[in-house]
Amino acid sequence: MSNQNITIQDHINGEWITQSQLPSAPLYNPSTGALIGQVPLGNAAVSRAAVAAAAEAFPSWSATPLPKRMDFIFAMQAEMVGRKEELAQAIALDQAKHIAEARGEVQRVIEIIQMACTIPALIQGESIQGIAQGISGRIVKAPLGVFCGVAPFNFPALVFGWFIPFAIGTGNTFVYKPSTESPLFMQKMMQLLVDIGLPNGVVNVVHGDREVVEAWYDDDNVAGVCLVGSSPTAKAIAEGCGRHGKKTMLLGGAKNFLAVMEDAPMDLLIENVLMSGYGSAGQRCLAVSNIACVPEIHDEFVERLLAASRNVTVGDAMNPDVFMGPVISANAKARIENYIDIGVEGGATLALDGRQPEVSAENKDGYFVGPTVFTDVTPCMQIAREEIFGPVLSVMKTGCIDGALRMIKNHPMGNGACIFTQNAYYIEKFINEADVGMVGVNVGICAPHPYMPFGGIKDSLVGNNKVQGKAGIDFFTQNKVATIRVVDPRPADSSPTTQTDSNVRSCVAS
Ligand code: NAD
Repeated sequence: MSNQNITIQDHINGEWITQSQLPSAPLYNPSTGALIGQVPLGNAAVSRAAVAAAAEAFPSWSATPLPKRMDFIFAMQAEMVGRKEELAQAIALDQAKHIAEARGEVQRVIEIIQMACTIPALIQGESIQGIAQGISGRIVKAPLGVFCGVAPFNFPALVFGWFIPFAIGTGNTFVYKPSTESPLFMQKMMQLLVDIGLPNGVVNVVHGDREVVEAWYDDDNVAGVCLVGSSPTAKAIAEGCGRHGKKTMLLGGAKNFLAVMEDAPMDLLIENVLMSGYGSAGQRCLAVSNIACVPEIHDEFVERLLAASRNVTVGDAMNPDVFMGPVISANAKARIENYIDIGVEGGATLALDGRQPEVSAENKDGYFVGPTVFTDVTPCMQIAREEIFGPVLSVMKTGCIDGALRMIKNHPMGNGACIFTQNAYYIEKFINEADVGMVGVNVGICAPHPYMPFGGIKDSLVGNNKVQGKAGIDFFTQNKVATIRVVDPRPADSSPTTQTDSNVRSCVAS
């Protein structure tokens, strides 16, 4: 893939549009710091045009027989399998997710679409006979119209998978706004949707920032808005949509705990902490950030963690031989480095400083932060409270499992939490009491499989709607309830019942 002059285009009503009249944002390769393209910054007019196209496509798309709609979902998945490497390369270029993880992200979307393929089974309604004399009731799972979706920079493919196959499979049409920092995946994916023959206007893409999103709030054609992003953005969209009565599905930020008990299987623990803390350079909503460790095992754990962290190689996201790529931008690098200062000033011990990691000459201008480990962290410190979203781990001491559970409960975010132990009592207690939406046992990243719902609680989920699984399908449908009295249209005196009966009788007689 050429690294130069990538023109990111909107896609509205079946047309690729180069928005040369609009301002644009620079697109960088975070591995090298090189400018690789421009991203148009859409305005309210462009945003509304995309919604209008989706609204125009809705009547015929929602009336398309379900098996025909599902043909497109199956075709989408089959094409993704064929284009897996191309799609992964796109993610590894502008989002700079390590190429192995980028391949994993595309594979995960392929699995998410398997769940979307269950739509025909899961949107079957229900009915009940005889709720009064001659009256029945029926629940119809109906599409709602146009949904709009907003993606964060860190999972350009996954978030596409959480929204679009479910929304359009159930008969809605869609407008999607990728992050300006990682728009390439959707450029490739939209072309894939064009190539499988998806009708015009069923999926539309508009690039830009909040102005695009804010235009949806009072647009009567918009049925609902979904976001995966930070908690402040989720709350802003909840307010905007709330004022106009729009449905929302809003996944927010995270700060995940990992509890280490005295019987934690140490090799497994270290391997998982590295994957979870430094994978995607710590820019995952299920990345481990705070580690609560009991005293019996604390010193051994810290020693093993530091030794393993020092061996983590950092470099170009396209290089399969390094473990960790860069963070997304120069701003993100500066923000993470600032948190390292804050941690030191706040009294934590900087046991491993990831600033200025060693990288090759070609990557000297990339946005790298190496593995960073703080020890002697307390739950009230700023680095333990706030989302850093980088490869920074905070190790805290806790007396026992109850202390770890209290730390989790007292934290304002509640996405995921994991425990490493072999003790069945601890496992049950942790599953029952950890005040989060997703729990892991002896796994570093507690990401639920696509067949199950995904989402947190507290500030990590605004509202109550989660993505994936059956919940992810339900969000895009309404339970329309029909109460039906069927009236016999035939005149009372010419009822054919007796005729039929006599026909049957004469037939039997002959
Ligand atoms: P962000 O909130 O800055 O931006 C997300 C999207 O919202 C972008 O497309 C952006 O253009 C748009 N946006 C920003 N401000 C807006 C506003 N005021 N109104 C409307 N739209 C706005 O997040 P980010 O930096 O791109 O992504 C990282 C964040 O996403 C982290 O907080 C991370 O935890 C979170 N995240 C959460 C999950 C989850 O499952 N809960 C998954 C991935 C990422």
